[in-house]
Amino acid sequence: MPRPMDRLRFGTGGIPVSTPRKTTVNGIKRIRELGLDAMEIEFVRGVRMSESTALEVRRVAEELDVVLTAHAPYYINLCSDDRSKFEASVQRIIDTVKIGWVAGVWSVVFHPGYYGKLSSEEAYRRVREGIAKVLEFVQSNGIDLWIRPEVMGTHSEFGTLEEIVRLAAEFGPPVAPCIDFAHLHARSLGRYNTYEEFRSVLEYLEKELGKEILSAMHIHVCGVEYGSKGEEKHVNLPETSFDYRTLMRVLKEFNVRGVVISESPDLEGDALRMKRAYEEA
Ligand SMILES: [Zn+2]
Repeated sequence: MPRPMDRLRFGTGGIPVSTPRKTTVNGIKRIRELGLDAMEIEFVRGVRMSESTALEVRRVAEELDVVLTAHAPYYINLCSDDRSKFEASVQRIIDTVKIGWVAGVWSVVFHPGYYGKLSSEEAYRRVREGIAKVLEFVQSNGIDLWIRPEVMGTHSEFGTLEEIVRLAAEFGPPVAPCIDFAHLHARSLGRYNTYEEFRSVLEYLEKELGKEILSAMHIHVCGVEYGSKGEEKHVNLPETSFDYRTLMRVLKEFNVRGVVISESPDLEGDALRMKRAYEEA
């Protein structure tokens, strides 16, 4: 089972905006300078990193005590009717896991897919099949990192909180949810924004997956605009009514450990805002 985390860490989804010469290694160094301690490597447009770069990334991250996560390509649809698209989607997750493992990544997150004409149950079965194939690869190669289907923000995407938690419960570790609080808020058209609602998410996770899950959480947060079908656009936290301060307070109350990744346009600005709110809570 992949390791739990020592504390709650804060970082950016991708290389910080203020990084001079934007490489992954420079990004990790910038994270440290900013006083942050996590970074998500974005393979969202394709998995392109050489093994030698990955080894260097690992060395620098370990030296600076920056925990790394990785985001698999956006172009993944495990619910596809087209078998070749399903296989290619599985492969993209495997490619992320493979290079992520070399780079010392702690957790790999991916977007499972789109319902299309499928019911939730049919989509669930396909996503489950895809994850089972990823796990086969992971286990036969002695790889030990978290595999995280993400809670998604629009109604056309597979990934309600319940669907994602059900996958995690059915497989057990290393499968665990990536909880994107902006997606939860947008998908539910404005819920998940109060003390009680944030608590209810963590209580639900504890109940379904056991208390240990709260010491290995992979969390995404950003400001979000939404319409009738859910998420429309990422914006900065101060431009929204999303109550990240209360979320941070609840994460502290539950002694949540793991990583909080900012996906706002102002990546590091919002990561630092959340870190400060957490420390002040
Ligand atoms: Zn994502």
